[in-house]
Amino acid sequence: MPETRQTFCRICESLCGLDVRVENGRIAEIRPNPRHAATSGFACMKGLNQHKMYGSRDRLSHPEKRVGDRWERVSWDQAISEIGAKVRSLVDTRGADAVAMYVGTAAGFGILHPLFAQGFMNGLGSDSMYATATQDCANKFAVAHEVYGFPFTQPFPDVDRTRCLVVVGANPVVSKWSFLQVPHSGKRLREIEARGGKVWVVDPRRTETAKVAGEHVFIRPDTDVFFYLSFLHELIATGGVDRRRVALHTTGWDAIEKLVQDWSPERTAEVTHVWPETLREMVASYRLADGAALYSSTGVNMGSRGSLCFWLQEVINAVSGNLDRRGGTLVGHGIVDFAKFGKRSGMFLKDVRSRIGGFRTVNDAFPGGLLADEILTPGDRQVRALFVTGGNPLLTMPNAGKLARAFRELELLVTLDIYKNETGSLAHYVLPCTSPFERPDLIFAFPLFMGMQSRPYLQATEAVVAPEGEQRDEASIYLDLCRAAGVSLFGSKAAQKLLEWSTALDRRRRTGRGGLPGVPQELLLSLLLRVSRAGSFRGLLQSPNGQVRPEPAGGDFLGERIVTEDRKVHLAPPRLLDEAAKLEADFAEHRARAGELRLITRRSHETHNSWTHNIEEHVSGTRSTNHLYVHPDDAARLGLAEGALADVSTRTATVRVPVKLLADLMPGTVALPHGWGHQHATGLSVASRTTGVNVNLLAADGPDEIEKVSGMAHLTGFPVEVRPAEGPLEPRSWAGIANA
Ligand code: SF4
Repeated sequence: MPETRQTFCRICESLCGLDVRVENGRIAEIRPNPRHAATSGFACMKGLNQHKMYGSRDRLSHPEKRVGDRWERVSWDQAISEIGAKVRSLVDTRGADAVAMYVGTAAGFGILHPLFAQGFMNGLGSDSMYATATQDCANKFAVAHEVYGFPFTQPFPDVDRTRCLVVVGANPVVSKWSFLQVPHSGKRLREIEARGGKVWVVDPRRTETAKVAGEHVFIRPDTDVFFYLSFLHELIATGGVDRRRVALHTTGWDAIEKLVQDWSPERTAEVTHVWPETLREMVASYRLADGAALYSSTGVNMGSRGSLCFWLQEVINAVSGNLDRRGGTLVGHGIVDFAKFGKRSGMFLKDVRSRIGGFRTVNDAFPGGLLADEILTPGDRQVRALFVTGGNPLLTMPNAGKLARAFRELELLVTLDIYKNETGSLAHYVLPCTSPFERPDLIFAFPLFMGMQSRPYLQATEAVVAPEGEQRDEASIYLDLCRAAGVSLFGSKAAQKLLEWSTALDRRRRTGRGGLPGVPQELLLSLLLRVSRAGSFRGLLQSPNGQVRPEPAGGDFLGERIVTEDRKVHLAPPRLLDEAAKLEADFAEHRARAGELRLITRRSHETHNSWTHNIEEHVSGTRSTNHLYVHPDDAARLGLAEGALADVSTRTATVRVPVKLLADLMPGTVALPHGWGHQHATGLSVASRTTGVNVNLLAADGPDEIEKVSGMAHLTGFPVEVRPAEGPLEPRSWAGIANA
């Protein structure tokens, strides 16, 4: 009997409410849920087609072990005991840090998955954690730690009340928002204008967002920091600083005034190409608005100065009086006071240094751009084993060619995933996991714990369907791995025993009824809600369209919920000021390299990083590759035509890719979408037939190439050489590496 069940999408931060029609235990159709409290009928094609990823013939259904160049089916018992024994032996002989973990984006969209993954590493005593954040957002965490005292204190624009929104390096109409849930991006941006407000979109490309709302302003890639310096310079010059608030709630103002004094709009225009009169008009609209906000995302984060940019953005929002006020930027309320909890417990506040380069951890994780070196460089704490949980670092991290070589050197590589992706293809074991629709869950951690929502609500979901194979949830896998490695989850024997006991109970309950035993996920999620005084899991299920929560009103963060020791916003942390001292040299370099092409990335509606390329209709016809987008003037100068092949080079690699002409680009800029390069994935039968290239082959890794404050990789806005394709391509591509 067909049945429609309510759940929510766990692909991106929009968390769209979905109606899922189930027939004979399988998902037949997904539709947007028009009754959902926040997303009210919004969903994109990725969310509506995701069951095709989970129902694919490529879906991993049982554990596999690589024996030479063959894959063998093994039992869960064999896989877990062999992996556990190898981990134990490495910990005993090389130390706990020899075992590393990479936590991917998919893990972050569950609650128990990242928790148990961290519990396994804590049980081992290993600090060797890596995560996706240093590819796209660690700058925000590192800066928030310095400025607000806690990395997850992330003020967000009050989209529904602001009278001026300046969007820098973000394209919410396609990519949605980051660190904030705002469904219906285009509609919400147009509403700002409809109520008499102003939207500015600052980007090297006239993006889909810029076409929907606001005034678009071109900026030369990777020069955002100079834009922010001049924005603040002009704000001060025109009396846009709220001196009373600055005196009452901040420290470090004098250093900020001194920092920006030499960066007039006239001066920085030489490298940003944001003309002084445009910048002045933008600052005036920001200054005069009754509630204004600067917002940025990956286009800024992934540049060479992501931390400085985000720092200056937060300084501007704070000193203009827009932080913690309606229409400006707000700090949400999650189900707990997460900053207070984190500060007390030390969670996400470890101060461990990387062996290579001495980088500080951000959110208790090391920079991904160091991982290859940490594997390849002999010595104490050398990484010898790696667990990749819900991620695909070979497509998402810088210098993927070197990383592939490093992965081949590991004594143990284990992936937990729904597919055998590029990284899994090099693994020793692949462990099949449940899909988001095959497990109970709560909404994503950012809205749950930090209230990063424009329209706050809570939502729980049961499993919509049962797994068809031997797939298991990651929490259960990590619990078993702890036992097999002779350690306890989070180092707590009591927690380990209790969870093992409840899993055994589940096993008895299931005897003869199919399915695999696991940890009591619903019970654990309910416990989390009850400890946070946010009700019960079952109670939340009674609101399948989301349980609405109060909207943040502003005015309760400054002096109250901020967790710096003196309860003030630290405008001028020494680490950031030290880094800012290098800006004169940066500026000189930008001037010297003014004629070079710079490469940016680009997203499309059909793809989400590398996830959706195994769905036929997402990659059929002309969608079967990424393209190098080139401005027609640049193309004419370079001798390139629409459809021709171009070679794109950095000192790290060369990739060959077809050209598309795009007048929406700022001349001097080329764009190449990321997430491609699947040709040698052994477990992606659709994606491996696509011909796109991995843009991250072009990006450099290592301690001298990553951003100093946050360890962010430089994945956008870097210089490239582009020329018509000629002769055989030097085999430094992913294909060359995979065949090596
Ligand atoms: S915008 Fe698309 S991918 Fe993101 S949550 Fe909604 S349906 Fe899922």
